[in-house]
Amino acid sequence: MPAPEPSFDELYREVIIDHYRRPRNHGHLNGNAIHVEGMNPVCGDEIRIDLVADDQGVREIAFDGQGCSISQASASMLTSEVKGRSVASARDLSRAFKAMLIDGALPAGELGDLVALEGVAKFPVRVKCALLPWNVLEQGLTQAEASAPTGENHA
Ligand code: ZN
Repeated sequence: MPAPEPSFDELYREVIIDHYRRPRNHGHLNGNAIHVEGMNPVCGDEIRIDLVADDQGVREIAFDGQGCSISQASASMLTSEVKGRSVASARDLSRAFKAMLIDGALPAGELGDLVALEGVAKFPVRVKCALLPWNVLEQGLTQAEASAPTGENHA
């Protein structure tokens, strides 16, 4: 007999656990990467994001941290989805993700694996876990824009 089809909840849980156990883009970036850190004292989550972004977009991104599966999976998904996007597009994604979790907005198609975190919206305490990496990302994008090359040749 074939195994029963997993429910959406189970599928989502598998996606979250997969990102938690096999985090994407995990580690640190050296060189001229920007480093930003944040924490969620309610849960004890810590997230550090390293990124390299310029007018061509988010070229490199990595994260490190510790905490619950929601915070770490959200960070892993974030790096997967944001890498290669323009800074504006990364901010749009952050807005769409927050709208889903805070306002209960329908997930936009572009959210990818992040849709798996939709159910977190029902648990306000866990929403802080899921949003932590995004708040850190936004700080990093702001710093990247502030220090973006102006096109002058400093060589
Ligand atoms: Zn947490």
